[in-house]
Amino acid sequence: MLDSAYRLLWVGGDWDDFAAENLGGPARASRVLGSNLMDHVAGAEAQEVMADILNDVQETKRSFRMEYRCDSPEQRRDMRMTVTPMRHDRLMVTHDLRDARSLPAVGPGWRWEKGAWDCKCSFCGFLRRTDGWVDPFETGLRHPEVVDYGVCPTCRQVIEKELERIRKAGRAG
Ligand SMILES: [Zn+2]
Repeated sequence: MLDSAYRLLWVGGDWDDFAAENLGGPARASRVLGSNLMDHVAGAEAQEVMADILNDVQETKRSFRMEYRCDSPEQRRDMRMTVTPMRHDRLMVTHDLRDARSLPAVGPGWRWEKGAWDCKCSFCGFLRRTDGWVDPFETGLRHPEVVDYGVCPTCRQVIEKELERIRKAGRAG
């Protein structure tokens, strides 16, 4: 749950598991309350996109929904994020696991580093290659251990479309 300035008022359920796997120790639930959600979003582009989503939900008072991926080195995990407007400009952000499939590991793991050569999409986990974006589980190559996070064109389109939908619904009243 976020307050009107996107500070974490409350985190529930899966946050500790999620943080342990994706963010590392310092982001554990007890320590993040009061911090800004943006401080937990890796990568400038992903931050920008998340800010757009939160702003639009706040303004339109409509729920935003999108499917995304949050893989581990040996598991493809299909997730859904929902951002729901609440009273007093608060926002509820939920992440639901839709499907998880174990696959041959693509490497020992990866971590975020600003400005890293390899770019990974925050929303689908695809890696940027010179000839396009690819699913790391389908390349047969070892996953880079250091990545910067970005947003691939496909996810940008999906997000833009969903934002358009809620803006339109918002205008309709
Ligand atoms: Zn993507």
